[in-house]
Amino acid sequence: MALIVQKFGGSSVADAERVFNVAGRVTDAYKEGNSVVVVVSAQGDTTDDLIEKAREINTNASKREMDMLLSSGEQISIALLAMAIQKLGFPVISLTGWQAGFVTDSRSGDARIQTINTERIAAELDRRNIVVVAGFQGLDRFDNITTLGRGGSDTSAVALAAALKADKCEIYTDVDGVYTADPRIVPDAKKLSEITYDEMLELASLGANVLHNRSVEMAKKYNVKLEVKSSFERIEGTVVKEVTNVEKMLIRGVTRDNNVARIAIIGLDDKPGVAFKVFSALAKENINVDMILQSIGREDSKDIVFTVTKDNVDKTMAVLNELKPALGAKEIQHRDDMSKVSIVGAGMVNNPGVAAGMFEALYDAGINIHMISTSEIKVSTLINVRNAEKAVQVIHDKFNV
Ligand code: ADP
Ligand code: ASP
Ligand code: MG
Repeated sequence: MALIVQKFGGSSVADAERVFNVAGRVTDAYKEGNSVVVVVSAQGDTTDDLIEKAREINTNASKREMDMLLSSGEQISIALLAMAIQKLGFPVISLTGWQAGFVTDSRSGDARIQTINTERIAAELDRRNIVVVAGFQGLDRFDNITTLGRGGSDTSAVALAAALKADKCEIYTDVDGVYTADPRIVPDAKKLSEITYDEMLELASLGANVLHNRSVEMAKKYNVKLEVKSSFERIEGTVVKEVTNVEKMLIRGVTRDNNVARIAIIGLDDKPGVAFKVFSALAKENINVDMILQSIGREDSKDIVFTVTKDNVDKTMAVLNELKPALGAKEIQHRDDMSKVSIVGAGMVNNPGVAAGMFEALYDAGINIHMISTSEIKVSTLINVRNAEKAVQVIHDKFNV
């Protein structure tokens, strides 16, 4: 008998038929004698629809009220799934994030889980109940409802698995595993039987939204055995773990992230302290900066170009415009039509030709590169968003992953 945490995403519970499909999978695991905790997301496009509803009322609503609204989507799912499981004749109880003991910090809309008080869940499991928990939500220490950021139900599930010391955490979704590229973009992408935490963390952070990146971080930290599987087909998925046995491929995956904007500060004074002024001012406003490029100085002036997520553009421009005189900057520009396309693989450390291969694939396709950044296990390029899907495809072809 094992303790299993299963997580089902929005498309897996989109309508009544699918809710019953999930109920079937959950109760099958229960019938085998396991203790089962199920984490669910809001049905289908519910979260997007709720955001749209909020916009109709107030485009500037506070993040606290947004969380009050968005958390309701998951509450619908847990009740419906519990009702389906009841109908199949099994003992079950649904719990919201706060009933399940999720305590977070106060960053509304992007909260981090601090602790999970698991007494209630443990007591329900002792009574042999199936426990259905709302993903994506918690409560801060002032009793405000918080949410964990888009895609955050994965993180709820992994955090619960860690807190309960579960034997495994299964993430059920609309694909049957992690692929070498998003199968919606690259139809001949291949399913990986295994992937390391580090590679999965890079892929997830660089746009492969099949797993929320913080869920992977947490799985690595607490050594949670994680598997990505299909909700609909009963086949093996992709196991995410510390070390993989599969042969080292040069590239484990290709991915793209369209949630990027490029900011350019043109004609800065070429003297010490300028970069410090720019990035400390942004840090103070909690704005995360990603790729950074500084030009060489010419005639006492230089440029700094960097990327931020799209939702931070307005804030970034406000900070920089205020700073403009102090920086001696001539002009500050921003562009939203960008995409970051990346390759990830632990095998590239010892293979110097990898970045060149990626650039060649883009060159052959006539795609211009605006910025480049690299780390030990990834290479990222910033390109025009209209070329993003083509870029993923040609790079995938190039490395024959
Ligand atoms: P859920 O609602 O179950 O959380 P998501 O939409 O968040 O599902 O994640 C699943 C989607 O992730 C897939 O439908 C797929 O299009 C996308 N995806 C992106 N990159 C990859 C990848 N490398 N492998 C598999 N799926 C990927
Ligand atoms: N429902 C939330 C979202 O759409 C959380 C999740 O699906 O993981 O982002
Ligand atoms: Mg998801």
